[in-house]
Amino acid sequence: MSQKARVSFHTLGCRLNQSETSTIAKSFREKGYEVVPFEESADVCVINTCTVTGHSDAKNRQVIRSAHRRNPKASIAVVGCYSQMAAQEITALDGVKLVMGNAEKLRLVDYVEQSRHTEEPLVINPKISRAAFAEPVFQWEQLTTRAHLKIQDGCDFMCSFCIIPFSRGRSRNRLLNNLLEDAQAFVNSGSQEIVLTGVNIGTYQDRDRTIVDVVDALNAINGVKRIRISSIEPTTVPPGLIDRMADADHKLVPFLHLPLQSGSDSILSQMKRRYTRDDYWNEVMRAADRIPDLCLGTDVMVGFPGETDEQFDDTFQVLNTLPFAYFHVFPFSERKGTPAARMANKVSVEEKQRRGTLLRQLSLQKRNGFYQRFVGTVRPVLFETPKPSGEITGYTDNYIKVALMQPNETPLKNQIRPVYLKEGQTDRIFGELI
Ligand code: SF4
Repeated sequence: MSQKARVSFHTLGCRLNQSETSTIAKSFREKGYEVVPFEESADVCVINTCTVTGHSDAKNRQVIRSAHRRNPKASIAVVGCYSQMAAQEITALDGVKLVMGNAEKLRLVDYVEQSRHTEEPLVINPKISRAAFAEPVFQWEQLTTRAHLKIQDGCDFMCSFCIIPFSRGRSRNRLLNNLLEDAQAFVNSGSQEIVLTGVNIGTYQDRDRTIVDVVDALNAINGVKRIRISSIEPTTVPPGLIDRMADADHKLVPFLHLPLQSGSDSILSQMKRRYTRDDYWNEVMRAADRIPDLCLGTDVMVGFPGETDEQFDDTFQVLNTLPFAYFHVFPFSERKGTPAARMANKVSVEEKQRRGTLLRQLSLQKRNGFYQRFVGTVRPVLFETPKPSGEITGYTDNYIKVALMQPNETPLKNQIRPVYLKEGQTDRIFGELI
């Protein structure tokens, strides 16, 4: 019997990229390929790239070069956002046989054979259409405890620091029937939690159906145990979504990740964000008042061009005062082609680092405070893969990381079990099964 062709994958960037890599990997398996770890030798190495900053571009090139060094005979396929923006730059790198932007990348397997027989690298980079889309649905033989379900792609918001409306194109939506089929396939493979992903998912619309209809339709699927919204833009959260999070009988969990970016109105306006500090504040307080035990998270950027000490303090105060459980902190990083890259008064690297460190420390304190609130209570935990030591971790509905030693007689992987939260640590709570 002839040996199976081997393919390996490396993903850079966001969760959406991760979920798309899984879909591409599945299509290779269906065609008879063996999927192997990226470090091993392979016939095809697929690199799914990111281009949010200049730094991401350098990282993409570094991964491509090292893949070629390790695997000089492999065909290297570079797909995703960097391919969308800089196809010519990529074709100049040794070993690259195929470059595909975002429009067609899920069909990569169909182009791989073709690219092996061409002298020059094959570039597939058509314009990204705005039309609603369907994605291939596979039965997943591998279990994913928390399955990322893509419902939308692209963005129309044009924030001044962001390249996504160009690299991923304008907003478009996945057809409701197609995404529900995918959710059912995840459930059939044993997934307990469905995480809705996309670029700007609060704007979801399939004819007159919105994101609220998506969560209600998922709620009606028997095997779905939890539904989580990955991240949603402020001003796009419909009241119906908050109602569902507040309803203990609905599977939508009490988790809201609302990117703030800055607590200064002047910076928000230069970022072309669509809200003021007060709009954001009121939205958060409305949600926190309505939703018991809500886990509230955010993204924040430090060192946007011209950000003064006072403006940074405004951000610090908002983050310190609102009931956040955590935040992700990003230093402003110039992205060529965006309006912010052309702005004057750049903040020095050292100052960005200083501000970033202050906010990361604050985030740790907030997480600690959030975790401590739940010590002494019982919450449902969805367990993931145990370590060889026997320790197993999982997440509560409101995203608290919980650890315990797995009893030999009770395998917990992929089970939702009530756990008494006993002792808080900085990054997890130790618990006891009830
Ligand atoms: S909302 Fe703004 S930051 Fe988010 S993807 Fe759209 S343009 Fe980028």
